[in-house]
Amino acid sequence: MGTPVNIIVGSHVWVEDPDIAWVDGEVTKIKGDEVEVQASNGKKIVAKLKSIYPKDEDAPAGGVDDMTKLSYLHEPGVLQNLATRYQLNEIYTYTGGILIAINPFQRLPHLYDTHMMEQYKGAPFGELSPHVFAIADMAYRAMINEGKSNSILVSGESGAGKTETTKMLMRYLAYLGGRKGTEGRTVEQQVLESNPVLEAFGNAKTVRNNNSSRFGKFVEIQFDKQGRISGAAIRTYLLERSRVCQVSDPERNYHCFYLLCAAPQEEVEKYKLGNPKTFHYLNQSNCYELVGVSDAHDYLATRRAMDIVGISQKEQDAIFRVVASILHIGNIEFTKGKEIDSSVLKNDQSKFHLKIAAELLMCDPVALEDALLKRVMVTPEEVIKRSLDPDGALVSRDGLAKTVYSRLFDWLVDKINVSIGQDPNSKCLIGVLDIYGFESFKSNSFEQFCINFTNEKLQQHFNQHVFKMEQEEYTREEIDWSYIEFVDNQDVLDLIEKKPGGIVALLDEACMFPKSTHETFSQKLYQTFKSHKRFIKPKLSRTDFTIAHYAGEVLYQSDQFLDKNKDYVVPEHQDLLSASKCSFVSGLFPPVPEETTKSSNKSSKFSSIGSRFKVQLQQLMDTLNSTEPHYIRCVKPNNLLKPAILRMSISCSNYVVGVLEAIRISCAGYPTRKTFYEFLHRFGLLAPEVLEGNNDEKAACQKILEKMGLAGAQSGKTKVFLRAGQMAELDARRALKL
Ligand code: ADP
Ligand code: MG
Repeated sequence: MGTPVNIIVGSHVWVEDPDIAWVDGEVTKIKGDEVEVQASNGKKIVAKLKSIYPKDEDAPAGGVDDMTKLSYLHEPGVLQNLATRYQLNEIYTYTGGILIAINPFQRLPHLYDTHMMEQYKGAPFGELSPHVFAIADMAYRAMINEGKSNSILVSGESGAGKTETTKMLMRYLAYLGGRKGTEGRTVEQQVLESNPVLEAFGNAKTVRNNNSSRFGKFVEIQFDKQGRISGAAIRTYLLERSRVCQVSDPERNYHCFYLLCAAPQEEVEKYKLGNPKTFHYLNQSNCYELVGVSDAHDYLATRRAMDIVGISQKEQDAIFRVVASILHIGNIEFTKGKEIDSSVLKNDQSKFHLKIAAELLMCDPVALEDALLKRVMVTPEEVIKRSLDPDGALVSRDGLAKTVYSRLFDWLVDKINVSIGQDPNSKCLIGVLDIYGFESFKSNSFEQFCINFTNEKLQQHFNQHVFKMEQEEYTREEIDWSYIEFVDNQDVLDLIEKKPGGIVALLDEACMFPKSTHETFSQKLYQTFKSHKRFIKPKLSRTDFTIAHYAGEVLYQSDQFLDKNKDYVVPEHQDLLSASKCSFVSGLFPPVPEETTKSSNKSSKFSSIGSRFKVQLQQLMDTLNSTEPHYIRCVKPNNLLKPAILRMSISCSNYVVGVLEAIRISCAGYPTRKTFYEFLHRFGLLAPEVLEGNNDEKAACQKILEKMGLAGAQSGKTKVFLRAGQMAELDARRALKL
């Protein structure tokens, strides 16, 4: 972003106060590359010339509703604008056609009521205040008018408000495309009620968000020729499986477990449940309740939503039986058996939970015990049963729980899809994407790798789109745009997904080769990408690796990559559950086709989470590429999950990244555009002679540009286009004249 070369004594600037964030002030001294600023908070701050930014003294007091109207597109200016608006409860701001949404962390009911929906219906874009409804309306109109599919991509870090935004979008689309006065289970109602069902089973409290979605979601809403909703399809991506067995304080497991423990008494008894504190899968964390949430109430609400999406009472009963069985499975413990390396159930408690789990799953308790404790070994001579040691049995138990839970989740998604139904005749759809944002934690594993891979893909899509929009604007204005560089992240994508040779492919190779360990896998990465610009081997580690993602460097720990990549159900577990007397449970484990089990060809037998995810992602991109995209960037104002604090801190640059990317791209070309009128109004005094007797605004602007010697600046058909830094230069000269 343009470094301010036009700062003089007396300039109003933004400067970084090391203690808080950006503050404004006036330059009092310039010495070499250092400046002294008298800040508005009373401090004198000395800073590098290149780290201060010009402040627009003419910026409107209430901020601007579109960032492209800012005279200066730089981080402090953007933040100031967002902060000003946020203080006025204006949580939405455009950057051109992109909507920035700041999480208000408080209910703003008027903002989303029916009256609001009526207002936005059919209103020309930009006429009303920025809003999610305006984006949905634009997508809907474009679909109706051009007969083309549209998509709305909602992104942002965890807790930024993606899921809430998605729900508003869906509500508005249901409002536009719903049938008035119809009762019962309409398609649009089913689409809306799929949200609470999926949230009960796929959301959990995390440190970042009390209702964090632990899966990605793409909802495709289909419309008929009259523009009415005629069907829908929900696709989900990578549910976080590890959470079922492993919860760290102060997070929670998936909501459904707590809901069921808070169900009406007779149900709690039926499933032999009780206080969540008594279950290992829940009591690893001390958090059981959520402020402002009643699990008992949500249990009933989830049941009602399940009714609406078409899940029968019998199926609901089976679903909650499976949920309860997982809690009981988690309480089965093991201890060393008599033989070496064998294990047995630890005590009567464990025997009790095993018995209940078997009852709930309607399978044979002895078979369940065997499936947990033993593995069948097939040698050319014989078939033997080998015992697992207590640690092995624990892994087996948790594996069973995770597999059952993820199958249950997939079943729910399938069921909702079948029950809502697809419209085979629909030509147009609006897709809404709510998918995890970029993640970089203290410790990053395979999940973060997949999530960040997704974000690289979406970032590329975004770049291409913004770039295309820019080009279109330049073409419309008939200006020369040969300067514009296209920033691309293809190199990171190649590193990850190239076939053969990318990280995903190398990981699959490692998983297929029985002797591989995470060490050999890491060594292979180090060798292969020794000179790759986006790949870094940390000096002090033999197994970690760093990827330089578009949003920053992320250090990955490779130790669980191989295990987590293997998409594998233990045959003993498969056999146990496919033999269940409950058709729901056996249905979750359909028989594996013969050829995949007996095949001697290793590669056909092998399936990996990474490769499957890569294919899913490519399909998603193909779908998105066939639509007209719209973007909503959600922003988390602070990490306190509280309203009205938009910290202008540079350390929360995480959230700024998303906003600034769009700006960075447009900065590559012409970050500032002013209509001829605005331009003359502001800078006319730089060349009063041009204005005299001149009615041609464009010619006048051009003359000013020439006189000021601004290389690269252009005047189009209606606007002046300025390169980075040129606005500051003009303002500096103007300040001298004032
Ligand atoms: P994400 O999906 O990005 O992780 P969520 O959409 O779940 O984040 O939002 C987190 C929380 O923030 C919500 O549970 C809600 O309390 C609050 N929130 C988000 N958007 C809004 C909004 N538009 N109005 C009111 N509260 C919101
Ligand atoms: Mg979410």
